[in-house]
Amino acid sequence: MTPDFLHALTLGKRPEGRTLLTADWVLAWRDGSHHLVPRGEIVMENGEVVFAGKTFPGEVARRIDFGTALISPGLIDLDALSDLDTYTLVLDNQPGWARGRIWPRSYVERGPYEMYSPDELAFQKRFAFGLLLLNGITTAAPIASLYYRQWGETVAEFEAAADAAGELGLRVFLSPAFRSGGTVLEAPGRMVPVFDEERGLLGLRDAVSFIERQHGRHGGLVNGLLAPDRVETCTLELLERTMAAASDLDCRVRLHMAQGAMELETMQRLHGATGPQWMASHGLLSERLIAPHATHAATRDLDLYAAHGVSIAHSPLVSARMGSMLHSFSACRKLGINIGMATDTAPPDMLMNLLMGLVTCRISEKKPDAVLSADLFDAATLGGAKALGRTDIGRLCPGARADIAVFRLDDPHMTPSVDPITTLVLGGSGKVTQAVFVDGRLSMLEGKLAGFDMHEARKQAQSQFDGLLAKYPDRSWEHPPVEALFSPSYPLWTGKDDKEC
Ligand SMILES: [Zn+2]
Repeated sequence: MTPDFLHALTLGKRPEGRTLLTADWVLAWRDGSHHLVPRGEIVMENGEVVFAGKTFPGEVARRIDFGTALISPGLIDLDALSDLDTYTLVLDNQPGWARGRIWPRSYVERGPYEMYSPDELAFQKRFAFGLLLLNGITTAAPIASLYYRQWGETVAEFEAAADAAGELGLRVFLSPAFRSGGTVLEAPGRMVPVFDEERGLLGLRDAVSFIERQHGRHGGLVNGLLAPDRVETCTLELLERTMAAASDLDCRVRLHMAQGAMELETMQRLHGATGPQWMASHGLLSERLIAPHATHAATRDLDLYAAHGVSIAHSPLVSARMGSMLHSFSACRKLGINIGMATDTAPPDMLMNLLMGLVTCRISEKKPDAVLSADLFDAATLGGAKALGRTDIGRLCPGARADIAVFRLDDPHMTPSVDPITTLVLGGSGKVTQAVFVDGRLSMLEGKLAGFDMHEARKQAQSQFDGLLAKYPDRSWEHPPVEALFSPSYPLWTGKDDKEC
């Protein structure tokens, strides 16, 4: 039920005139850092913050009091999952290469195909964007798996995604992912890279023209970002041209590297160096680069990130469940590396991700005070903004865009609440997100979005995913049936062989 005081707002609309938001806590930015303001006030007008502080001295058209809540800058997600998460299938069913996560030679020879229709590809992005808003994320750089794709991502699905972001009210940094190579499974556990240079360059050309057409659309919500897939699936020529294009377009580049054992082996075999060292030797590291996830970065790799201003997209939840972690959040910060946060999974629960970031850093450093809640909160706001080259998001101060998340502190799960940041990080759940404004527009309120019913959409998401699941044998080693690929967590008791007792 929508509380009475929120009736002054309409989902999907930016309120006319000055709107004042207040709550028990406001996180406002001044003198270089976030500050907690008890019973503070934020005033926004025309999508911009015009006041952030204790008491606004001027007139306003309306005043909205969220009560026991924190009014925070919206969260920034540098690797925001934009499909239906296929990792769920292998969480308890390993190894991934045996379960459709590496293309077997037989699938490559048969001819890889798109396992979703164009409509399904467009729908899953809209659904994923909805989940991001539900979790207080106001800025997202979408990421999706390429395993079920024919090759890279398509312009058509990204045009639909840009419109979905504009219609739902989510700030996005995106373009279709491209690659010049893939990994093929030749025998159990034996993966080899294969390359198709032309295809990679074509993907880059498509991405560049997408950005030229789309950057700035939907009132500035749609922004360009080049997304070559992974360092080991890109050739030097493709990456050189990508970095040059990013400079021409003045946009960022996200490239996965230093993120896995298979990548390290492949890079050693192909180039005799780690991804970051290979990139550095060709002058390709710069502050334009956002590098998820750095869990397998050597000390020298991290030194290079620091020296060249590369940002890390940190996704501790996804890394930890695969048995790895960044070594470490605090050590990287001490080196001077900028860190932004990335959920990279569904649900895209950034608060849960921050808790995991706190836990894994303290485990890595073997110290209970190695990192504080505010350090993680900084990464999810200021760090993400810096990675994207923006100073007008991730903070609430005059002149910033009005990208705001309101987190309830009166939820039983957040009780007792003392310090709002500590409480939210420790609570580890984005389900307490009450409202989200993007560019001053109300994009989410009490779990509802403008023009998109998440509960109805859930049914379509499930049936679409079931359809994908049925196709898994096609691209799995020796093509076993689905039941053999993904075992149930416990034996199924179907009742067929029940005995009388
Ligand atoms: Zn990732």
